[in-house]
Amino acid sequence: MSDSPKKRLATTSLAGCFGCHMSLLDIDERILALIEQVEFDRSPINDIKKITRRCDVGLIEGGCCNEENVHTLQEFRRKCDVLVAVGQCAIMGGLPVMRNAIMHSDDPLKECLYEAYIDSPYIQNDNHQIPNDPALPLILDRVYSCSEVVKIDYQIPGCPPSGDMLWQTLTSLIEGRPENLPLELIKYD
Ligand code: SF4
Repeated sequence: MSDSPKKRLATTSLAGCFGCHMSLLDIDERILALIEQVEFDRSPINDIKKITRRCDVGLIEGGCCNEENVHTLQEFRRKCDVLVAVGQCAIMGGLPVMRNAIMHSDDPLKECLYEAYIDSPYIQNDNHQIPNDPALPLILDRVYSCSEVVKIDYQIPGCPPSGDMLWQTLTSLIEGRPENLPLELIKYD
């Protein structure tokens, strides 16, 4: 942990829906107590795009479905003392991992893109183009959970975990007593 009087907290959303971040906001007025104890570094909450200095705790929402997700997760691992996978998407891929089931051909990624943009009966794509703008991050061959890419210290299940769960986990980690993680608040749906 850093020597700063306030702990530093970074958060990010990879292949997630921001529901886990919304759940963090569900701590309601306790966010005032939280910012007494922590300073937010990179986070969608303050729109800081890069980690500015070493952080005590990093919260990861979502798994990895593209190259940018992997780079972000690796940056968090390098620069955070404790890394927490928050929610089912970070822990096991969540809904995006359904695309891992599309792997019948020799080129599962191509098959997946054709299913999404060309072949599905519900697609309206008159020019039959698959998005290929060079600015788009490179899609991975499949969706990876966070622990398949870097070492994860803690996992908080739930879709999303409750605000109470996130509050108690964060305060435990900030106070250096992660063994007190509240098992009674854990949910798996
Ligand atoms: Fe959204 Fe649920 Fe995934 Fe969190 S775990 S990012 S709430 S789908």
